[in-house]
Amino acid sequence: MAKEKVLIVGGGFGGVKAALELAEDKRFDVTLLTDHTEFRYYPTLYHTATGGKRASSSVPFKVIFERLPVEFVKGVAQSLDRKAKTITTKDGKSYAFDTLIIGIGVVTNYFGIPGLQEYSYGIKTNIDALKLKKHLHDSLVKTGKPDENYLIVGAGPTGIELAGALGPYLHKVMKKHGLPEHRAKIGLIEAAPRLLPRMPKIVSSRLKRHLKKLGVHLYIGKVVQGETPETLTVSGQPMKSKTVIWTAGVTNHPFFAENNFVLMPRGKVAIDVYLQTEDNIFVIGDNANTPYSGLAQTAIRDGAFVAKNLIRRKDGKLMKSYKPTVPISVIPAGKKWAVVVWKKIVVFGFLGWMLRSAADFVAFKDIEAWPQATQQWVHDFGEEEDCAICQRPW
Ligand SMILES: Cc1cc2nc3c(=O)[nH]c(=O)nc-3n(C[C@H](O)[C@H](O)[C@H](O)COP(=O)(O)OP(=O)(O)OC[C@H]3O[C@@H](n4cnc5c(N)ncnc54)[C@H](O)[C@@H]3O)c2cc1C
Repeated sequence: MAKEKVLIVGGGFGGVKAALELAEDKRFDVTLLTDHTEFRYYPTLYHTATGGKRASSSVPFKVIFERLPVEFVKGVAQSLDRKAKTITTKDGKSYAFDTLIIGIGVVTNYFGIPGLQEYSYGIKTNIDALKLKKHLHDSLVKTGKPDENYLIVGAGPTGIELAGALGPYLHKVMKKHGLPEHRAKIGLIEAAPRLLPRMPKIVSSRLKRHLKKLGVHLYIGKVVQGETPETLTVSGQPMKSKTVIWTAGVTNHPFFAENNFVLMPRGKVAIDVYLQTEDNIFVIGDNANTPYSGLAQTAIRDGAFVAKNLIRRKDGKLMKSYKPTVPISVIPAGKKWAVVVWKKIVVFGFLGWMLRSAADFVAFKDIEAWPQATQQWVHDFGEEEDCAICQRPW
């Protein structure tokens, strides 16, 4: 019997998990089409941007799929031909499928604010993280003193993680290079009236207290209006800065609008109880209109859910319905401190940091074999510097 051709587009948390689940079943012919050669572990990108190891936030696909029958193809999916059942890439190659799973993640949204796209930094990819790290390091060493303001826009988990890690990294670079001791001024800007507005109020107030203790200046309820090479305008006030880091907005991938998918008001793809948007086309992770879309844990569950249903269908069983699972939110803020929120349970401090560390290991284990996952987890604690002076032991 001919194998079912499953084409997975997007090598993120959801796509990789789906590929791993289907790989061992010989009734499927699995192809993973994605636009780069490494899996990105987004939750530790803030660490890579502030002196952590690059390997903590990226794993080559060849390591993940070593010895597994998954055909890996590098390419940018551009168009879907529903009748021919093919995906065509930017470079004109077409890939046929019987079943299609799409998990291509979200893209940065600057909401049309002038100057942001040109001048701000981001941490959406390893390249972004390394570019930011180079800027932080090189400008500090070149001028001999910190920037007037380091401004992080968006007090969501990414902005908070970065705000907590930035100060110690800048301090380390200053110390290693023997620069005069200056306290870097780090600002966290948020348009909403409190930090993490979707979380319980106690989380916002404890985080606020903790970030202030770390010396982070909070600009809450303030709106970014424009950026020039040296200034960020925030609620009518110009703030001097050559280091603005935008973490405040994402929007669904344009692929779906360009290929006439049915979209919900927030721009996510409409799906049924099997995460199917049309016959044999499944949409997972950040792209799907599910209650907890936007988190790695959800994307991993979605990928596993769709793969298991395809196996059930092959076995002649009915597919199961999707049940959203309340995710655990873990947000580190500074050295060995994190907040963990799950349903009504809230944990702060060192215990939270230990739980975060355990959660990272579980996530690595979800996509890698034990030895690689352990190695990756160990990388999470390491540091990496290109600069010979910063590499020297203390
Ligand atoms: C800095 C940062 C920190 C985060 N921290 C956390 C956290 O601590 N905990 C948490 O739960 N979540 C976190 N998230 C969110 C989490 O990373 C996402 O929810 C998760 O990655 C979604 O998985 P996905 O499979 O839907 O998409 P992704 O993981 O984004 O994967 C999509 C993949 O598709 C590729 N792709 C894009 N376009 C195309 C195309 N046209 N053709 C082929 N391939 C394409 C992309 O390059 C990408 O590799 C964080 C996100 C960021 C940016």
